[in-house]
Amino acid sequence: MVTVALAGNPNSGKTTIFNALTGSRHHVGNWAGVTVERRSGFLELEGESIEVVDLPGTYSLSAQSEDERIASRYLSSTEADLIINVLDASNLERNLYLTTQLLELRRPVVFVLNMMDDAERQGVSLDLEMLQSLLGGPVIPTIGNREEGIEQLRKALQSVIQGQDARIRQIPVNYGDDIEGELLKIEREIGRDEHLASSQIPRWLALQLIERSPESEALIQASHAKTAITTQVNSSLEFLEAHLGADGGTLLAEHRFGFAHGLVTEVLKRQPLTKRSLTDRLDAILTHRWLGIPIFLAIMIAVYCVTFVLGKYPQDWIGYGFSWLHQEAAAVLPQGELTSLLVDGIIPGVGAVVVFVPIIMLLMGCIAFLEDTGYMARAAFIMDRLMHLMGLHGKSFIPLIMGTGCNVPGVQATRTIESKEDRFITILVSPLVSCSARLQVYILIAGTFFKPIPAAFAIIGMHFLGFALAMIMGKVLRLTLFRGVNNPFVMELPPYRMPVLKATFIHMWEKGSVFLSRAGTVILAGATLVWFLSHYPGITNRAWTAEYQSNRAALQVMDIPATDRDAKLAQLDLTHESRIMNTSFAARFGKLLQPALAPILDPDRKRPEAWKDGVALTAGFVAKEIVVGTLAVVHQASAQSSSTDVRVSPLQDALRNRSGLTPLTALAFMIFTLIYTPCLGTVGMILKETRSVSWTTFSIVYGLGLAWLLAWATVVFGRALGFA
Ligand code: GDP
Ligand code: MG
Repeated sequence: MVTVALAGNPNSGKTTIFNALTGSRHHVGNWAGVTVERRSGFLELEGESIEVVDLPGTYSLSAQSEDERIASRYLSSTEADLIINVLDASNLERNLYLTTQLLELRRPVVFVLNMMDDAERQGVSLDLEMLQSLLGGPVIPTIGNREEGIEQLRKALQSVIQGQDARIRQIPVNYGDDIEGELLKIEREIGRDEHLASSQIPRWLALQLIERSPESEALIQASHAKTAITTQVNSSLEFLEAHLGADGGTLLAEHRFGFAHGLVTEVLKRQPLTKRSLTDRLDAILTHRWLGIPIFLAIMIAVYCVTFVLGKYPQDWIGYGFSWLHQEAAAVLPQGELTSLLVDGIIPGVGAVVVFVPIIMLLMGCIAFLEDTGYMARAAFIMDRLMHLMGLHGKSFIPLIMGTGCNVPGVQATRTIESKEDRFITILVSPLVSCSARLQVYILIAGTFFKPIPAAFAIIGMHFLGFALAMIMGKVLRLTLFRGVNNPFVMELPPYRMPVLKATFIHMWEKGSVFLSRAGTVILAGATLVWFLSHYPGITNRAWTAEYQSNRAALQVMDIPATDRDAKLAQLDLTHESRIMNTSFAARFGKLLQPALAPILDPDRKRPEAWKDGVALTAGFVAKEIVVGTLAVVHQASAQSSSTDVRVSPLQDALRNRSGLTPLTALAFMIFTLIYTPCLGTVGMILKETRSVSWTTFSIVYGLGLAWLLAWATVVFGRALGFA
């Protein structure tokens, strides 16, 4: 026989609903061993008898009074096949706390929204359709004491019991990356004991263990995996305490309140102005339909100002440090291939990436701070509607924002997205968001080919274009490769709180260090490869080396002012290096690429130097910031590749006067740089997060294709409009 349990807060109307459902067919007794009343009865549905059990009222399944323990124990066992969650509609948010726990029990839940008369009288108005789809079960509005809605409830029960209710859906309550990770570890330990894992719901048990509920601790006493489980629980709690600055019970409670608050904020169309908490009042402004977005934009502008203004100083110091290292190494080390690898390959390559560390760390610090205060959840909440238009969710928005610093932590941040489709779409579109490395290329190119104001517009335009493309591609992917139902889910709104500084630093470090580790691994390897390709076979040419060395020696003894000599020496170095570069494998490769790039970068086929673009763009595959340094080498111009200040460099001179690029093709170059294949670090992260070679390949290929198409369209349209 099917058993249905009635669960809900005290005084939500459970017994009233119970009586309405069972009529006179019920029995009142006691729960085993205690004096708490047990009420059970029968309900006739199409000739089938269903047992209904009225449980003692409880605010939470973790609570510890006698009544509450009975309800909790009964629901955790497998006795009930279906749960009716009775909710007081006039007090929905508080009632939903228990619901977050009921949702963990992996059983279908029918929601009774009782006390609708009270709610209406107080001026509460709810979007029931939305509530139903967010809760993943039928929502039946009732007025229990007038038996209104009971017939609909019976119908809903019937269709759910027959397994024919399309509204039933498993709703995951997500506790955030850190907690979810620990829950998985605990579940794994629970899995060691097969009996335990099959008699309990492992995730639910893990949640209770994190709350240190005595019930759950008693449950594992008998298990042979007891020690392993306890050890894991203790280390998880320690980890969470250090990371999030609170004990397990508090952390779970915060997420549950966040879920309830987010859900109510979403479905509440109107609410009485009385009895609003501080969080409610803040949210009335920060998640306001119209005010929310301008406030968010203002906050983000402030974040970027802080990041770039403050970041400029350490960025310059690191830049100077690397130029100094570069000069010293060049002066001190004996000439040769190893020195060249170090001086021309590794130092500038790694330096080009490391200068961004302060910017990335500051941006990630600001985001971690905003996340820890609870504001980022609001940002995701207000962007949710907008993102839905584009086939994405509000949760996809945070990774895109992080991507503006660096795509690597951006891709990693998609971990918080539960649905696999949503997550993959976000991973695939997030490299389209322009990162701070690409900014260097725009600054160089726009600064060279445009006047200051159009240049600024071009640079800002690239960032908007990146975002717009991410949105459009999100929609395209949703309509093509990732079709299927796009179920709404609750956007959690946790209570606001003052961040714990230590925890914020840990979060900043976690987000930022992904970027740093990139410099040590992928970039180091990539820089070595780029160096090899751009120096061989020329570097082994004895005659050139001899000529270069004798010229140098001659210059050194020449009787001219020291500054002139330095300039001449620098010119000599550059000429020598260009000679090597222009005959290198990279140059050959660039020439091979030339026909493919010609339609966008050389539409008239009259730039002898067009192959150099291909070399720079290929090097940019390692890291986009390397494009600048490579351009300097191929164009025989010394650019301080590791400095952000390229305003007056000889490289700009070379690009403007010798490269043959025009403002239009330069714009195409910027657009191409924005969109094409993300850097090696991002590709690595995409591979790690999707665990799929084919999706990673897809990401590279569609990026290249899209980049080519848009750059080409820009040139074609530009020329049609009469631009050169
Ligand atoms: P329980 O503690 O959850 O079992 O709640 P009860 O069923 O005992 O109901 C508590 C009180 O609320 C009783 O006085 C009911 O008559 C009243 N009640 C139940 N449903 C409604 C309703 O829909 N509207 C109003 N105004 N009162 C209700
Ligand atoms: Mg009762």
